[in-house]
Amino acid sequence: MAMDADAFHAQVVSQYAQHVNPSLAKLMNFAGFGVEMRGEGCYLYDHEGKRYLDCLGSYGVFSLGHRHPAVVQAVKDQLDKLPMSGKVFFSPLQAELATRLAALAPKGLEFTFFSNSGAEAVEAALKFAKGATGRGKIVATEGGYHGKTVGALSVTGREKYRKKFGNLMPGAAFVPYGDQEAMLAAIDHDTAAVIIEVVQGEGGIHVAPPGYLAAIRAKTREVGALMIADEVQTGMGRTGTLFACEHEGIEPDLLTLAKALGGGVMPIGATMGTADVWEKIFSENPLMHTSTFGGNPLACAAALATLEVIEDEGLCQRAEEMGQRFMSGLREMQARRSDLVSGVRGMGLMIGVEFAMDEVGELVIAQMTKRGVIAAYTLNNPRVIRIEPPLIISPKQVDEAVRVFEEAVVETSELLAMLA
Ligand code: PMP
Repeated sequence: MAMDADAFHAQVVSQYAQHVNPSLAKLMNFAGFGVEMRGEGCYLYDHEGKRYLDCLGSYGVFSLGHRHPAVVQAVKDQLDKLPMSGKVFFSPLQAELATRLAALAPKGLEFTFFSNSGAEAVEAALKFAKGATGRGKIVATEGGYHGKTVGALSVTGREKYRKKFGNLMPGAAFVPYGDQEAMLAAIDHDTAAVIIEVVQGEGGIHVAPPGYLAAIRAKTREVGALMIADEVQTGMGRTGTLFACEHEGIEPDLLTLAKALGGGVMPIGATMGTADVWEKIFSENPLMHTSTFGGNPLACAAALATLEVIEDEGLCQRAEEMGQRFMSGLREMQARRSDLVSGVRGMGLMIGVEFAMDEVGELVIAQMTKRGVIAAYTLNNPRVIRIEPPLIISPKQVDEAVRVFEEAVVETSELLAMLA
């Protein structure tokens, strides 16, 4: 006999507690989260068959929604031919994907190194920057998020995640995000690179102020340092352009991608760079940086199909339009609920809602989940709930999410009043 839904949930929680991560099991169970079973379009389904509008999308992975048929088909077709690379012969898919990316990316980014995740893409970028310049200092931003491997963590701007691990990669210097004066003062002749997000995601969805990135670009050029744009979260149309750098015409030396690049079907990371960087890293030894699974045929097939879907379905434009609709709905809500909601900001469908006090976000998220909408707070700033739905979201679904958000805020406000 099949196990009933509650027993199944209890079993999974207990397995997490015993073999995955006990405190995570406690946290997720306390928040009342279910077990994910199936995804389709903008929806995720749990172990009870309940449907959720996915306004988190795995922190920006599901830009095409769950299981986009074109990407699933491309991966299935490749699965029947050659899923993984033998690593000796040329890979036609890797060749094609690198060529397509070079044609689409900001000028100068002609080469791509493929990996499997955001952190790996960042690791390669940091390593290339250090190797190409022969310098050790990396300027990063407070609240910035670049991953949790040793190198990426060294430039991730939240002390809480770093301090337990002692001396990480030396040479990281942090400045407040958006503070142009502090940033320019930190970039000097010892600087290998600045690593920067065009919209600081985990830091609380902070959009770069006008002119900030251009000033970084100019100063890095002046002192012979490189500029790394971390587009792991902003890339692939999320902010209304394929690459967020395009909004201000920024041409970085290195650019990282992951998350949405695999269309929500395959994991893939990518580090794009200039001919000059590639020459300085790979001319001496073509195997200077490698990855067994990086650029595997399944992942490349998924990414190629993803690029096609983004273009065919006009998803950059759609992110821009739906983002406007979402943000204006949320701003109207903010005007009515200004006791709790202190800000709404973002770019395209990368939106942050800031609360006036700590801990409110968590309660609102729990209320939203109960009502069938998934959201989460930003990792480095728990006061900010992020909204990153699939770019295929419909106007009706946007309105529904805004309505549920407001209901959750009202319920939380009533609860807080009762406790006061
Ligand atoms: N860079 C940025 C900007 C990110 O948002 C993230 C993930 N949130 C990463 C890097 C790390 O990606 P991953 O979790 O795939 O290692």
